[in-house]
Amino acid sequence: MPIFLEPLDVIDDLKGFQSVLIVSCPICPPMCVSIQQGKPFLQPLKHGVKTKAFEDYISSIEDALAKHGVRTDAFTMRFPVPMMCLWTERQRARIMKRARDFEAVLVLGCDSATYTAIDALRETNCKVFQGMQVKTITNATMTFPSRATVTLDWHPLPSKPKIGDLTGPRAET
Ligand code: SF4
Repeated sequence: MPIFLEPLDVIDDLKGFQSVLIVSCPICPPMCVSIQQGKPFLQPLKHGVKTKAFEDYISSIEDALAKHGVRTDAFTMRFPVPMMCLWTERQRARIMKRARDFEAVLVLGCDSATYTAIDALRETNCKVFQGMQVKTITNATMTFPSRATVTLDWHPLPSKPKIGDLTGPRAET
Protein backbone atom coordinates (compact mmCIF):
# COMPACT_ATOMS: atom_id res chain seq x y z
CA MET A 1 0.00 0.00 0.00
CA PRO A 2 1.64 3.28 -1.02
CA ILE A 3 2.46 5.52 1.90
CA PHE A 4 2.72 9.25 1.28
CA LEU A 5 5.99 10.51 2.73
CA GLU A 6 7.54 13.94 3.00
CA PRO A 7 11.28 14.51 3.28
CA LEU A 8 12.59 15.67 6.66
CA ASP A 9 15.56 17.98 7.12
CA VAL A 10 18.04 15.72 8.91
CA ILE A 11 21.31 17.42 8.04
CA ASP A 12 21.68 18.97 11.51
CA ASP A 13 21.17 15.53 13.11
CA LEU A 14 23.77 13.88 10.87
CA LYS A 15 26.46 16.50 10.36
CA GLY A 16 28.32 15.42 13.52
CA PHE A 17 28.94 11.89 12.22
CA GLN A 18 31.97 10.94 10.16
CA SER A 19 30.05 8.57 7.89
CA VAL A 20 26.41 8.00 6.96
CA LEU A 21 24.91 5.23 4.80
CA ILE A 22 21.68 6.32 3.09
CA VAL A 23 19.38 3.29 2.85
CA SER A 24 16.27 3.82 0.77
CA CYS A 25 13.11 1.85 0.17
CA PRO A 26 12.68 1.75 -3.63
CA ILE A 27 8.86 1.80 -3.59
CA CYS A 28 6.99 4.65 -1.82
CA PRO A 29 9.85 7.20 -1.48
CA PRO A 30 10.64 7.53 -5.22
CA MET A 31 6.93 7.65 -5.94
CA CYS A 32 6.42 10.50 -3.44
CA VAL A 33 9.43 12.55 -4.55
CA SER A 34 8.37 12.33 -8.20
CA ILE A 35 4.84 13.43 -7.29
CA GLN A 36 6.06 16.27 -5.04
CA GLN A 37 8.47 17.56 -7.68
CA GLY A 38 6.07 17.02 -10.60
CA LYS A 39 8.71 14.97 -12.38
CA PRO A 40 8.55 11.59 -14.17
CA PHE A 41 8.37 8.48 -12.03
CA LEU A 42 10.30 6.40 -14.54
CA GLN A 43 12.13 7.00 -17.79
CA PRO A 44 13.28 3.43 -18.41
CA LEU A 45 15.30 4.16 -21.53
CA LYS A 46 17.35 6.81 -19.71
CA HIS A 47 17.41 5.65 -16.09
CA GLY A 48 16.27 2.02 -16.00
CA VAL A 49 14.23 1.22 -12.89
CA LYS A 50 15.52 4.27 -10.99
CA THR A 51 13.49 7.44 -10.48
CA LYS A 52 15.78 10.31 -11.48
CA ALA A 53 14.09 12.84 -9.18
CA PHE A 54 14.66 10.52 -6.20
CA GLU A 55 18.26 9.79 -7.18
CA ASP A 56 18.83 13.56 -7.40
CA TYR A 57 17.26 13.95 -3.95
CA ILE A 58 19.65 11.37 -2.50
CA SER A 59 22.55 13.19 -4.18
CA SER A 60 21.40 16.47 -2.61
CA ILE A 61 21.62 14.87 0.85
CA GLU A 62 25.07 13.52 0.06
CA ASP A 63 26.20 16.94 -1.18
CA ALA A 64 24.85 18.67 1.95
CA LEU A 65 26.62 16.19 4.24
CA ALA A 66 29.85 16.40 2.24
CA LYS A 67 29.98 20.12 3.10
CA HIS A 68 30.30 19.03 6.73
CA GLY A 69 33.00 16.49 5.92
CA VAL A 70 30.65 13.51 6.27
CA ARG A 71 31.43 10.48 4.07
CA THR A 72 28.29 8.98 2.54
CA ASP A 73 27.13 6.19 0.32
CA ALA A 74 23.68 5.16 -0.90
CA PHE A 75 22.19 1.69 -0.75
CA THR A 76 18.97 -0.05 -1.71
CA MET A 77 17.82 -3.49 -2.80
CA ARG A 78 15.11 -4.44 -5.26
CA PHE A 79 15.54 -8.21 -5.31
CA PRO A 80 14.07 -10.52 -4.23
CA VAL A 81 11.74 -8.15 -2.36
CA PRO A 82 11.70 -4.42 -3.18
CA MET A 83 9.48 -3.27 -0.27
CA MET A 84 11.81 -2.54 2.63
CA CYS A 85 9.00 -3.39 5.09
CA LEU A 86 9.22 -6.98 3.80
CA TRP A 87 12.95 -7.44 3.24
CA THR A 88 14.12 -10.98 3.82
CA GLU A 89 16.61 -12.09 6.47
CA ARG A 90 19.26 -12.21 3.75
CA GLN A 91 18.47 -8.63 2.69
CA ARG A 92 18.62 -7.50 6.33
CA ALA A 93 21.98 -9.19 6.64
CA ARG A 94 23.18 -7.25 3.62
CA ILE A 95 22.29 -3.94 5.26
CA MET A 96 24.36 -4.95 8.25
CA LYS A 97 27.28 -5.83 6.01
CA ARG A 98 27.07 -2.53 4.12
CA ALA A 99 26.55 -0.46 7.28
CA ARG A 100 29.55 -1.95 9.06
CA ASP A 101 31.80 0.89 7.91
CA PHE A 102 29.36 3.67 8.78
CA GLU A 103 28.56 5.42 12.04
CA ALA A 104 24.95 6.18 11.11
CA VAL A 105 22.25 5.04 8.72
CA LEU A 106 19.68 7.40 7.23
CA VAL A 107 16.52 5.58 6.15
CA LEU A 108 14.50 7.09 3.33
CA GLY A 109 11.20 5.33 3.93
CA CYS A 110 8.34 4.95 6.37
CA ASP A 111 8.43 3.88 10.03
CA SER A 112 8.29 0.24 8.94
CA ALA A 113 11.32 0.71 6.68
CA THR A 114 13.12 2.29 9.61
CA TYR A 115 12.18 -0.67 11.78
CA THR A 116 13.75 -2.99 9.20
CA ALA A 117 17.03 -1.07 9.50
CA ILE A 118 16.86 -1.03 13.31
CA ASP A 119 16.17 -4.76 13.31
CA ALA A 120 19.05 -5.45 10.93
CA LEU A 121 21.49 -3.29 12.90
CA ARG A 122 20.40 -4.20 16.42
CA GLU A 123 23.73 -5.84 17.22
CA THR A 124 25.78 -2.88 16.02
CA ASN A 125 26.48 0.62 17.35
CA CYS A 126 25.18 2.18 14.15
CA LYS A 127 22.65 4.95 14.83
CA VAL A 128 19.52 4.85 12.68
CA PHE A 129 17.69 8.01 11.59
CA GLN A 130 14.48 8.32 9.59
CA GLY A 131 14.70 10.85 6.76
CA MET A 132 11.05 10.92 5.71
CA GLN A 133 7.82 11.50 7.58
CA VAL A 134 4.62 9.51 7.01
CA LYS A 135 1.74 11.84 6.11
CA THR A 136 -0.98 9.45 4.99
CA ILE A 137 -1.70 6.54 2.70
CA THR A 138 -2.14 7.57 -0.90
CA ASN A 139 -3.26 6.58 -4.35
CA ALA A 140 -2.11 7.44 -7.83
CA THR A 141 -2.85 6.40 -11.39
CA MET A 142 0.19 5.35 -13.35
CA THR A 143 0.14 7.04 -16.75
CA PHE A 144 2.25 6.70 -19.89
CA PRO A 145 2.44 10.12 -21.59
CA SER A 146 5.00 8.71 -23.98
CA ARG A 147 6.55 5.33 -24.63
CA ALA A 148 9.63 6.41 -22.72
CA THR A 149 8.04 8.06 -19.66
CA VAL A 150 5.91 6.88 -16.76
CA THR A 151 4.23 9.47 -14.54
CA LEU A 152 1.92 9.30 -11.53
CA ASP A 153 -1.41 11.11 -11.45
CA TRP A 154 -1.80 11.66 -7.71
CA HIS A 155 -5.14 11.40 -5.91
CA PRO A 156 -4.55 12.91 -2.47
CA LEU A 157 -6.63 11.29 0.23
CA PRO A 158 -7.69 13.08 3.39
CA SER A 159 -4.96 13.17 6.00
CA LYS A 160 -5.25 10.25 8.47
CA PRO A 161 -8.23 8.64 6.65
CA LYS A 162 -10.65 6.48 8.57
CA ILE A 163 -11.63 3.10 7.13
CA GLY A 164 -14.94 4.55 5.87
CA ASP A 165 -13.09 7.34 4.05
CA LEU A 166 -11.34 4.82 1.89
CA THR A 167 -14.52 3.93 0.06
CA GLY A 168 -15.72 7.52 -0.30
CA PRO A 169 -15.09 10.05 -3.07
CA ARG A 170 -11.62 11.40 -3.69
CA ALA A 171 -10.57 14.52 -1.85
CA GLU A 172 -10.54 17.71 -3.92
CA THR A 173 -7.07 18.60 -5.23
S1 SF4 B 1 8.73 0.08 3.72
FE1 SF4 B 1 7.25 1.75 3.87
S2 SF4 B 1 7.90 3.10 2.23
FE2 SF4 B 1 8.71 1.06 1.72
S3 SF4 B 1 7.15 -0.05 0.52
FE3 SF4 B 1 6.83 -0.58 2.67
S4 SF4 B 1 5.24 0.91 3.25
FE4 SF4 B 1 6.23 1.81 1.42
